[in-house]
Amino acid sequence: MSKTPSIPAPFKPFRKQAWQPKVKPGIGPSTHSKFGGRPWIAPGEPWPECPSCMQPLKLFVQLNLNQIPKELEEDFGTGLLQLFYCTNDEPDCAVACEAWFPFSQSTVVRIVHPESPDSGSEEHESEEHEIEDSFPEKVIVGWEAVEDYPDPEEIEAMGVNLSDQDWEQLERLDDQGVSIPRDGDKLSGWPFWAQSPEYPDCPKCAGRMQLVFQIDSECNLPFAFGDSGCGHITQCEIHPDQVAFGWACA
Ligand SMILES: [Zn+2]
Ligand SMILES: [Zn+2]
Repeated sequence: MSKTPSIPAPFKPFRKQAWQPKVKPGIGPSTHSKFGGRPWIAPGEPWPECPSCMQPLKLFVQLNLNQIPKELEEDFGTGLLQLFYCTNDEPDCAVACEAWFPFSQSTVVRIVHPESPDSGSEEHESEEHEIEDSFPEKVIVGWEAVEDYPDPEEIEAMGVNLSDQDWEQLERLDDQGVSIPRDGDKLSGWPFWAQSPEYPDCPKCAGRMQLVFQIDSECNLPFAFGDSGCGHITQCEIHPDQVAFGWACA
């Protein structure tokens, strides 16, 4: 596991593991974890469209929850987690629907359950499921485990007092290009908040939703959320079918 150099002591008890995706450009089986390209879509179902402008949505990421690192197997349930996001600018759905907020009308985030999610079967594929302006597909071929620590604001909200020395140490790490929490795309770990911590509440139980996947601007997708914002797919621990996506920029 890749370590973070000289992390301030108060952060150490909050260490989590995150996984950074290893990708390979190209088209993989429809049920694979991937950025962009073509998602798995149930036989007979149409390509998802934007509930606001009714135009086809772009697949941002699909995660096969049956093929994530073993340590996370119990955490997020099963199936394919899919994020579709409207990138149209006429009308500008992201602005009109305030797509930075979780549960926006122009974002579709869902978990679908193919009959045999591990098979990678192509039998249900059809050409009508092509959209012209999909992002070029990148298949997720593996995961690299890394250490991850919470946002300083989040750690203080948990009752930890950071000393001046801790803050100086954080600044030094920042100067070295070490981001705490880690920026970039990652599975699990601590969310990198561009502004303040903002976990959505589950629509069913009002419980705080947890991070599943972080999607950063211009990392594996050729797309920026506002001014280099960072997005998060979150999920209710009690109701795994309840998933959300929101983003913020500094
Ligand atoms: Zn739209
Ligand atoms: Zn819930």
